[in-house]
Amino acid sequence: MLRGKGVNTTILCPLCGIDVEHLRHICLECNYAKGCWNELGLGFDTSQILSCSEWLLQTLANESFNKLAQIATILWGIWSARNMRVWQGKTVATQMAMQSSVIQVKQWRDSQQSKILRNKVGVQVSENVMDKWHPPREGRVKINVDAHVIAGLSWFSCGLIIRDHEGRFIRARTRKDAGGVSAVEAEARGVLEAIRWAISLGLYGVDIESDSKNSVHAINKIVENYLEVRVVFQECRRLLEDRRDILISFVKKQANKVAHILARVPCEINCFSDFITPPQSVLEPLISESLMI
Ligand SMILES: [Zn+2]
Repeated sequence: MLRGKGVNTTILCPLCGIDVEHLRHICLECNYAKGCWNELGLGFDTSQILSCSEWLLQTLANESFNKLAQIATILWGIWSARNMRVWQGKTVATQMAMQSSVIQVKQWRDSQQSKILRNKVGVQVSENVMDKWHPPREGRVKINVDAHVIAGLSWFSCGLIIRDHEGRFIRARTRKDAGGVSAVEAEARGVLEAIRWAISLGLYGVDIESDSKNSVHAINKIVENYLEVRVVFQECRRLLEDRRDILISFVKKQANKVAHILARVPCEINCFSDFITPPQSVLEPLISESLMI
């Protein structure tokens, strides 16, 4: 892999020295990698896997948070062992590599948690608002939605992601519409899209989260200030009248990262794209949110 970047190194896998180094080999097929997967009691049938990134996307779409955290730990351990071999000439036994990775991932999670606690100091929280993404309770699904508006441009876009109570990815959507609208209107239209999408998919028991406090309060009738957007709020409320199982709430931006990125995924104007496996651009936040639960 490094040869492609101009680094003078052998094309053979540094961990086994037998096969050519490519991502699928180093993560899944190398005997060293297999040893690491066995250390933590996981294994995969690699014969069906065409590419490593495709496998990762499929895995993200199907596995629970706990499993994803284990997978991330193993991959991190393999990658660290590989770098140790290449850059320091040291060989680490698979058991050591996994033990050290488990510790490093735990330290990373702890540091993320203490960052969240530090952010809370001195902040008056008037609502029950979370700093990180939380799965919905069992039997419900959660749709996170965010909008993207650039002043002066004649379009706006929104991103939506549906996950279940175990944090499993169900579906994502990006949508771009013509029109120069205010941020509140774009956010409100995003929430309306989420309600319509939930209804069209036949979902029951849906928590919709938006990081636009103004939109959420207006839809929930806490404030009634945005006259120009009134028709969007009214449509949301009309749909919600018959669907008491759909709840709209406000979350902080930190808890809405995946929707934030999805809202920026390129899309044709007046079109939407649906994803049944997560798009590449949300892999990192999806994995890091799975590690923080
Ligand atoms: Zn190898």
